[in-house]
Amino acid sequence: MTASRQFSNEEIAAMLRDVAAALRMRGVDRFQAGAYDRAAEGVTTHPDALVRLWEGGRLRNVTGVGGSISQHLDELFRTGGVAYWEEMTGGIPEVLFELLRIPGVGQATAWKLARAGVEDLEDLERKLASGALTTEGFREKQLASIAAGLAELNRRPDRMLLPVAESLATPLVEALRALPGVLRADVLGSVRRRAPTPANLNLGAATSAPAAVLDTLQQLPAVQRVEPSGVWSAILALQGGQRVNVHLAAPAVYGATMVWFTGSAAHVGRLAHRATERGLSLMPDGLFASSDAMETPGEEEIYQALGLTMPPAELREDRGEIDGGDLPRLVTLADLRGDCHTHTRWSDGRDTLAEMLTAVRARGHRYVCVTDHSYPNMDFGARAREIDAARRAFPALQIVNGLEVNITVEGGLQVSDEVLAAHQFCLASIHTGFRQPRTAITQRLLAALRHPAINGIAHPTGRLLLRREGVDADWGVIFDECLRQDKFLEIDGPPDRLDLPDDLVREAVRRGVKLTIDSDAHATGDLALQARGVDVAQRGWAEPRHVLNALSWEDFRREAHVRERS
Ligand SMILES: [Zn+2]
Ligand SMILES: [Zn+2]
Repeated sequence: MTASRQFSNEEIAAMLRDVAAALRMRGVDRFQAGAYDRAAEGVTTHPDALVRLWEGGRLRNVTGVGGSISQHLDELFRTGGVAYWEEMTGGIPEVLFELLRIPGVGQATAWKLARAGVEDLEDLERKLASGALTTEGFREKQLASIAAGLAELNRRPDRMLLPVAESLATPLVEALRALPGVLRADVLGSVRRRAPTPANLNLGAATSAPAAVLDTLQQLPAVQRVEPSGVWSAILALQGGQRVNVHLAAPAVYGATMVWFTGSAAHVGRLAHRATERGLSLMPDGLFASSDAMETPGEEEIYQALGLTMPPAELREDRGEIDGGDLPRLVTLADLRGDCHTHTRWSDGRDTLAEMLTAVRARGHRYVCVTDHSYPNMDFGARAREIDAARRAFPALQIVNGLEVNITVEGGLQVSDEVLAAHQFCLASIHTGFRQPRTAITQRLLAALRHPAINGIAHPTGRLLLRREGVDADWGVIFDECLRQDKFLEIDGPPDRLDLPDDLVREAVRRGVKLTIDSDAHATGDLALQARGVDVAQRGWAEPRHVLNALSWEDFRREAHVRERS
């Protein structure tokens, strides 16, 4: 038997949770609600796709899925819906189910938020940021706990890496631009802000003919279904199961739509608050003076009306960009003159030294640190000789004989001081023991920074986005030690690392800690990942003067303490 639709485990778990919430709201049967919650948990954690189990008649193998729920799931797969579930959830406002997903938010709070006009989770985030809920009878402490629950929910991974999000958004926006009646179209939301793990996709388009445009959205690539949601917007359900919000606006007010849906929610909340102070009202469909929308075809007009310089999208995180000070002159890819973290076949790289150097040269760089992992059994002498020979073959490139050295779980370094001293430049990094307590991790990083042969720390938190959280360290202490030892922290460019994370980059920049932006390339094609590191640097307010490899070779050599060749 084939399923009428391939529901994913996540989708099914969400439906089960909604039914549980509905049963509780209706006061039907507390025990039945608990059974639905346990089934949702079982579905979430089951390694196999439920639809495959159903095909094999093995639904009951899933923890928490008993007789009646397995019958309902059978109905779901056969017909695409479950009459009993629809009966239970019908008539309850959608937003309540969303609100109840926030850890710590119970029914009473959810109803109260819904009555206060909260439309969805993004709207809640905005209202929390703008202080709009304090007048609705919520206590300060209650709001803080809602905000903490929302932040926790937002950290959960129904998210994707930025390049994945871009690969979905780019062909869509290009096709959207080509539709008749569309004057301009843009990728908005967290993708535009270059956030590392966007949760949803947002596109904007200016048009005077919204109905006609909505009618043609079905033609966009990979669109399975268009769900209109009003005159000016629709949701695209893509073949891969992702959902894309399309926001249309009249050309005269498109600037407001762009600002609103670019976000972040915290940034827009602050803007809305500022608008109110000036007797204006910022809405998704315009900036209003009394009941008239002001002429705001572009974002500049919005910021101008609010007395602000328009910050680039990367800065719109409420990290000081609307406090009235000067905005930074952000570092760009074109500022970078070298790459301080690359691998070759001497360790785990795919390409030879010569292939890597040819590719580095083609990127226009003047210098490169070759930093293979310090495998203790490596023939360091032979490697040094090959690098020497390469210097003659690549006379225009400064080639630094470097290493990437593991910080051991005990807080030592993987190879001897003699080996380290024989190299011009050593990165230290954590590759094991990520879950040690904060004091242990901090001590490991401090010991590495204090070692005379170590120039800086690579991918300092060790996080792997959507897979592994970073180490827990006392970053204030680490930053201080970097300043004391005059050593740098790296921004590592691979899209699942982006490490140092942008919030820590912001803090490092505030304190004047030196940074590098590197590709950590393991093949020639990876060298382009420096651009991903630049995104992070920009989100952390880094200017060229904060970044060592934006310096000329002579200055870099001095400031990064590159040692003479031995
Ligand atoms: Zn590494
Ligand atoms: Zn590396």
